[in-house]
This record gives sequence, C-alpha cells and structure tokens, in this order.
Amino acid sequence: MDRESTFPDRRHTDNLAGRILTNYQVVLERIASSARSVERNPDQIRLMVVTKGHQLEVIEAVVAAGARLLGENYIDEALIKMQALSTIPGIEWHMIGHVQSRKAELISRHFSFVHSVDSLKLANRLNRFTAERNQLLPILLECNVSGEGSKFGLKAWNEGEWDTLVNEIAPILDLPALEVRGLMTMPPFFPNPEEARPYFQRLRRLKNYLQERFSTPSWEELSMGMSGDFEVAVQEGATIVRVGTAILGERTG
Ligand SMILES: *Cc1c(COP(=O)(O)O)cnc(C)c1O
Repeated sequence: MDRESTFPDRRHTDNLAGRILTNYQVVLERIASSARSVERNPDQIRLMVVTKGHQLEVIEAVVAAGARLLGENYIDEALIKMQALSTIPGIEWHMIGHVQSRKAELISRHFSFVHSVDSLKLANRLNRFTAERNQLLPILLECNVSGEGSKFGLKAWNEGEWDTLVNEIAPILDLPALEVRGLMTMPPFFPNPEEARPYFQRLRRLKNYLQERFSTPSWEELSMGMSGDFEVAVQEGATIVRVGTAILGERTG
C-alpha cells in the first residue's frame, strides 16, 4: 500500500514547500470567496506576497507555488533577494515600506512599483531619478486614514480637511516620470478585522473624492488588507492585498 495515498495530507504539512503551497492556495481561495460575497470579480484582486524578514528558501517556495508579485520593505534586504531570484522570469517587486529620501535612487532603480509615497519631497526625488533613466515609475499615495501617530502616510483621517489634501496631491500628479495609480493604507492592528473596515471604507471614499477632483489619473488601485484583515479589505474594494504571515508563517529575519 502506498503510504502517500494513506496519508494524503502529510506531504503538504511535513515540508516547507508543501505548507507554503497550501497556504498560498488557501489565501487565493479566501480572496475569491470574499470577492464573490460582494459580487466582485476575483480577477480584479491581485495577491502580493510580502517577503520581508524571510529566508530565500521560503521565498523560492512561494514562487514555486505560483506567486509572482512580491512586496519588500527594506532596500538592502530586497537587493539580495532580487539578485538571488534574478533568473526567474516574471517576478514583480513592489516597495511597500517607508522610503528614506536618501534611498530614493536605489528604490526607483530596482522596484517596478512603489506603494508608499507619502510626501511631495519623496515624490520629487523618485521622479528625478526615474526621469534620469527615461523611465516611468508607477506609484501609490500612502494615506493615513486612522490618525494613528505611528503610521506613515498623507494625513487623510479628517474627511473635512480633504480639500487641503487635494492641494498636497496636485503637484505630485504633475511629476512626469511618476504614474499615480491609486492609494495605499495600513490601518491600526485590530484582533477583530471588522474594526479595520471603517478605514478601508474611508480610503475608498477618498479614492472616489479624488476621482471627482482630478479627471486623470484613473485612481484604479487600492492597496489594502494584510494577513489579519484582507477579506474585509476585498469586500471594501481592495485591488491589491499584501499578505505575509498567513502564507509564509512568522517572520524570522
Ligand atoms: C509586513 C507588511 C505587510 C504584511 O503583513 P502580514 O501581517 O504579515 O500579512 C503588509 N503591508 C505592509 C506595508 C507591511 O509592512
């Protein structure tokens, strides 16, 4: 008798690659059912796997499982991984962490997308370095919609002050080498994901507000939702969810 057919689940829990494959597929399935629960098409949502703090073998396992959209927070750590995985075609690296101005050159050179643009100063630097190479860099504007002090992002928690925000955002939209694609947020952590819902709703309202104020760009992307709350974020309109722990396990680095 074939042992594997007696214990069909063992293969998938005993080894790293199998466990990560299962986790990845489960998260994809949860995204799809969350989308269907609000009559959204699951194809409108991309799953980003957040690989910060993980070893190469873990990242290789999730790439083998089919992941091609990877998110990193720190340039030095990311460069090592990019180098190591450079022979695998089709991997897209997105910057999701806070960007220090002095790292803007490296970030603009090595990432295909930056989710965490939160000031005109940073946008100017990314624009300058990207323009020097005659390229375009897609970005999202990171917004703090909760008022939590520890969070980065444009101050967007007070809906009565969104007029001021429009004035802050307008000059970023004029930078020729940056393509503003939408908004990103990171609400406070809540054990109950329902508590994050009002913040996801606020980000979507802000997107609608900006769409009315500016005819271009199209503001199509909403990057929101992490391991603990991505299903709620999908229900509220996320187009990119950023999931680490639920797929790769606890960070080790
Ligand atoms: C680390 C991180 C994530 C992923 O968090 P998990 O809880 O591990 O899913 C998502 N977004 C940002 C900006 C992060 O820094």
